[in-house]
Amino acid sequence: MAHSYDDQNIFAKILRGDIPNDTVLETEHTLAFRDIQPQAPLHVLVIPKGPYVCFDHFAQEASDAEIVDYVRAVGEVCRMEGLEEDGWRLISNAGAHGVQEVPHLHVHVLAGRRLGRMLQPA
Ligand code: AMP
Repeated sequence: MAHSYDDQNIFAKILRGDIPNDTVLETEHTLAFRDIQPQAPLHVLVIPKGPYVCFDHFAQEASDAEIVDYVRAVGEVCRMEGLEEDGWRLISNAGAHGVQEVPHLHVHVLAGRRLGRMLQPA
């Protein structure tokens, strides 16, 4: 699958500093910030700083350094937010069937209550 990156997407604007965000963690290759419409008491988005549309694009084209930084940052967010004891859920939507709204890779970190079944009926 070819991936073409739209640099006008909202997360690209956040990365450029054009619009504000509520940062939780910033590393060399990764930014984590609070979702503007939280779906759980804790809802953080973790994004790579590079121009990757989805997880598959990132896995294919990102450098090892970016991938290591990103994966470690997701874990760090869980630790920083004190989620080890009660747990959390990671979601990364891609494409139309994944109902991805913002075409820049993001992992949702959701926690703070029992999250119920993994999927709701479509
Ligand atoms: P998705 O449907 O997986 O693409 O999720 C996109 C997420 O981005 C949604 O949960 C939105 O609430 C969130 N979102 C959109 N704009 C912003 C923003 N400016 N700051 C923080 N989160 C945002």
